[in-house]
Amino acid sequence: GDVCTGVFMDMFLAIAIIFGGLIFLYVIFAEEVRSERRMDSHVDATVARLFQDEEAAFNGTNGNEHRPFFVEFVEENQKRHILPVKKTVYNKLNIGDYGRLRYNGFRFIDFSKEGEVIENLPVSRFGTHKAWVNIMYGCDKFCTYCIVPYTRGKERSRLVEDILSEIEELKGKGFKEITLLGQNVNAYGKDLKEPANFAMLLKSVAETKIERIRFTTSHPWDFSDEMIEIIASYDNIMPYIHLPVQSGNSDMLKIMGRRYSIDEYKTLFGKLKERIADCAFSTDIIVGFPNETDEQFKQTLEIVEHCQFDNAFTFIYSPREGTPAAQMADNVPKDVKKKRLAQLNAKVAQYALKNNQAYIGRTVEVLVDGPSKKNPEIYSGYTRTQKLVNFKADGVISGDLVNVTITDCKTWFLIGEKA
Ligand code: SF4
Repeated sequence: GDVCTGVFMDMFLAIAIIFGGLIFLYVIFAEEVRSERRMDSHVDATVARLFQDEEAAFNGTNGNEHRPFFVEFVEENQKRHILPVKKTVYNKLNIGDYGRLRYNGFRFIDFSKEGEVIENLPVSRFGTHKAWVNIMYGCDKFCTYCIVPYTRGKERSRLVEDILSEIEELKGKGFKEITLLGQNVNAYGKDLKEPANFAMLLKSVAETKIERIRFTTSHPWDFSDEMIEIIASYDNIMPYIHLPVQSGNSDMLKIMGRRYSIDEYKTLFGKLKERIADCAFSTDIIVGFPNETDEQFKQTLEIVEHCQFDNAFTFIYSPREGTPAAQMADNVPKDVKKKRLAQLNAKVAQYALKNNQAYIGRTVEVLVDGPSKKNPEIYSGYTRTQKLVNFKADGVISGDLVNVTITDCKTWFLIGEKA
């Protein structure tokens, strides 16, 4: 009897354990499914917002939009789409999350980490007059706060002939403006077997005679004299340079891993300003980097005063997991960071307005984006120097290059009438 009871008890226990285990696994599985779904609906909302904001960012009629940020979407089959998004949307998304986000077979940003550049990619376009052309992927700079070299891998350049044929095709379709895109376009070609660099590429692109050429982003470290000469000597390379400075203090720049001192930055800036007629400049600045003192921050304000940027994209430092800076004690109090950002933004706005005021009375060339949604008599577009202009006109269409007389301005845009 005892033996029998013992066997039954053992069997009962075994069955109970198996069932318990199965129930446990089911609960875990169900939770995973639920969290996948939560993730999906989060992504749905995100993507919906991205697309909405993309429109807003580029309809150009809402006054204070500046340079767009780009988010890459990658289809499972390696097709890429690059969409411009507003800074606010960009900031809402944590770059580190992109690789994990999936949407209808799209992944965000985490484009092939290493190796080949896939050709025949669809181009990103705005209407039928502006397009973005990728020239390279990845970054080898390893600034200590930046996750890009880890998520996007080493610098890989597209071949010159592929880039040129894409631009010829766009030109054939009537596109007026192309922007050459890369994390650091100045490093273009370093990884190619054939001798190629960004100056050579820019020259070849200029010789396609497409109307307007822009490029972004340029790291100050790789900006060669040859590049400056090419920009200065071709009329279809636009006089607008985005030159991220990040801090006005050389010790900070060193801790950030930026590879230039503030004096070197000033020298480069001076050369660009001198060689390129009527050139506009924008920059990126981080405040509240670990250990940033009041004195060092003051030097950031000083570099803004020195360069009098037309625009600056300013950020409060926040650590990105997996970067060297994330190991540093983030010892600048939050309210100090916020105060510094507000002070910096006020200074940036002051020069933006001052630079815009200098346009009043001038007649400038504008590439028309389209009519305002609110008022069909008002069109918007950008100057050669990448200034947004809202202007009165009739009978113009998007893609037209028109002359506009500037009559007034706000901090972030110009106001005018078709000349
Ligand atoms: S900040 Fe720019 S240059 Fe520096 S690592 Fe990141 S992508 Fe490269």
